[in-house]
Amino acid sequence: MSNSFPNRRIAIFGSTGSIGCQALEVIAANPDKFTAEVLTAFSNEELLIKQALQFNPNIVVIGDDRKYPIVKEALSHTDVKVFAGEKALEDVAGMDCYDMMLAAIVGFAGLRPTLCALEAGKAIALANKETLVVAGDIVMQKAIEKRVPVIPVDSEHSAIFQCLVGETRNKIEKVILTASGGPFLGKKPNYLVNVKRDHALQHPNWQMGAKITIDSATLMNKGLEMIEAKWLFDLAPDQVQVLVHPQSIIHSLVQFEDGSIKAQMGLPDMKLPIQYALAFPHRIPNQFPRYNFRTPSQLTFEEPDTKTFRNLVLATEALFKGGNQPCVLNAANEIAVFAFLRNRVGFLDMTDLIERTLQHVPFIEKPTLEEYFESDGEARNFAASLLKL
Ligand code: NAD
Ligand code: MG
Repeated sequence: MSNSFPNRRIAIFGSTGSIGCQALEVIAANPDKFTAEVLTAFSNEELLIKQALQFNPNIVVIGDDRKYPIVKEALSHTDVKVFAGEKALEDVAGMDCYDMMLAAIVGFAGLRPTLCALEAGKAIALANKETLVVAGDIVMQKAIEKRVPVIPVDSEHSAIFQCLVGETRNKIEKVILTASGGPFLGKKPNYLVNVKRDHALQHPNWQMGAKITIDSATLMNKGLEMIEAKWLFDLAPDQVQVLVHPQSIIHSLVQFEDGSIKAQMGLPDMKLPIQYALAFPHRIPNQFPRYNFRTPSQLTFEEPDTKTFRNLVLATEALFKGGNQPCVLNAANEIAVFAFLRNRVGFLDMTDLIERTLQHVPFIEKPTLEEYFESDGEARNFAASLLKL
């Protein structure tokens, strides 16, 4: 990427989601720097159409192909090309009409389009952490082979990435991922056993999509982020730590070999890491609210309660064990969260479902991409079969 700021053409995969919508706000505020060339959604055709009419992209893709006629009709008076279906997401990811993909699809579904973008030599702004949890070795290897950057959007990883600017030759001793602790910080299993979806969807610091909000409440999100950090920054499992910091002002920290610690701070607002990733290596001015040290508020830190939030233990074990374990963990978790959001399982049952799936699916030490897909499928089927009992 060049140093001056030419117009950067962005493809937002998952434009109707929480990250996608905030990215479009950033693009709208900086029309001289960014254009939205590709917008994709799974099923929210109404919002996709609205976004297409506002941003006039080259291409839109609606994942659910039953919605194709509606989108096509609504955009028939424009130049916007309309595609539909899972395969179209991959085809469009490989096209020439954009420079950088914002990978903002949620879950495993984001993996294939991101791999196609890397194959086509596109820079990636990565929000979709599941991509790295499932197949981090293959994704990062592909990025190295194609000499393209993978710039994190996840706020903790953006913080670490920002701390590492100018430190390429210096070894990291460890990274410390901060965690808000979610809505149930301090709660014990006797309380959590009765928690329902609407309560779990109330996050104290961040407005996010449903899946990541539940992951934040169970601390699985932090477990996924540990695995994400391992791949992004090429770390050993024991170099990744978690620290609960309920105010979400320090977004994460890096400790170097000399013991010096760098942190990145700011108010919790995803538009900042989104903007940083889209504009990297530049910083661009904005009017977002600033953190004020004079406002009376203490920054506090505590250890995560791993006795209560056992998802974090399962994820840490998967991180250490490696192979297909993080992929299996992720698949079982996607099924568990999906079931919880439909009131099919209790809050604590999600952990049991994941644990039993990890015990069931055979370990593969160095999976191929195909084997990752197979492990994912096997884990999903087994986790779903447990739900039927
Ligand atoms: P969301 O649920 O709000 O949006 C998801 C987007 O993906 C939507 O546009 C949806 O149409 C699309 N999508 C969903 N399933 C799909 C499928 N099967 N095929 C194609 N498209 C599909 O999610 P979000 O909160 O914006 O999160 C997106 C990603 O970013 C997640 O991986 C999440 O972990 C990560 N992330 C989000 C935040 C946040 O603040 N929201 C913060 C850090 C990381
Ligand atoms: Mg995060």
